[in-house]
Amino acid sequence: MQGYHHILLAVDFSDHSHTVAERAKELSERYQAKLSIVHVTDNLPISSAMDGQIMPFDIELNEELMRFSKQRLEKLGKELGVKDENQWLVIGSPKIEIVTIAEENQVDLIVVGSHGRHGLALLLGSTANGILHHAQCDVLAVRLKE
Ligand code: AMP
Repeated sequence: MQGYHHILLAVDFSDHSHTVAERAKELSERYQAKLSIVHVTDNLPISSAMDGQIMPFDIELNEELMRFSKQRLEKLGKELGVKDENQWLVIGSPKIEIVTIAEENQVDLIVVGSHGRHGLALLLGSTANGILHHAQCDVLAVRLKE
């Protein structure tokens, strides 16, 4: 069996993140693969919901969000024994950034969580769905209980 060499764990820091993280860690140990972690901070909205006017991009809020995400990423990295250089924090669209990082770093397995949504949510497409459809490598969707 060929196994995996580089596993990328995608975390959104929701309540279920630890379940996905444990599975990725377990697989990296089983295959003796390198483990990396990625968190993507969504672009902040730039238009006001009240009157539809365009608002200036809030740089301070964005920086605060990045600082907070970095702390959480470092904490998780420590828990999982993932080196700093294998921790990715980026701004953008989660599915695009995760797939891009995977391609640029020879990742052969992406591990994500999946709520197994149906109906409209499935039509609109979840992050897990987007990654599954665009990734060149294998994708493991860890089923999460609501
Ligand atoms: P969702 O489709 O939003 O329910 O997310 C499904 C899974 O995609 C999560 O369990 C994570 O593994 C991954 N994911 C979603 N959003 C992000 C994000 N902003 N950064 C990294 N991974 C994410």
